[in-house]
Amino acid sequence: MPLTTRITETLAQHGLRATPIRRQVLQVLLSKPYALSSNDIEQELGSAGIDRITLYRTLRTFEQQGVIHRVVDATDIIHYASCSVDCTEHAHHDNHVHFKCNACQHTYCLNQVAIPPVVLPGRFQAQRSDLLLSGICNKCQPSQPAAH
Ligand SMILES: [Zn+2]
Ligand SMILES: [Zn+2]
Repeated sequence: MPLTTRITETLAQHGLRATPIRRQVLQVLLSKPYALSSNDIEQELGSAGIDRITLYRTLRTFEQQGVIHRVVDATDIIHYASCSVDCTEHAHHDNHVHFKCNACQHTYCLNQVAIPPVVLPGRFQAQRSDLLLSGICNKCQPSQPAAH
């Protein structure tokens, strides 16, 4: 599916009007395989010139509508990633593992890896769960030593 079609469909699916700023922000998020901070997004948008307040408001709307989700990555900086295409449920963000690469410092959504169920004691009741693994991502793996 071409990116522009995906953007149009994602916004429509979540009941959002396809304003130019929403299209731009979503395009940036969809074009990267890893999570982005609002600073990263601002930089990607470049001189297109979106003021910060509008950007924050757009990200909040996206988050509320389940277009994107927050990625907890062991820093204080909030990163966002787009939700997978088939995701219409807001609960989606709870259900997959994130992976922080110590080499490239990017945090990836592993949508295909579900967080395993955790049994809690007594009257503990979880409201959200985040599972962050860290290590070396597949792009940063040292290449295989050449066979002699
Ligand atoms: Zn990496
Ligand atoms: Zn994710």
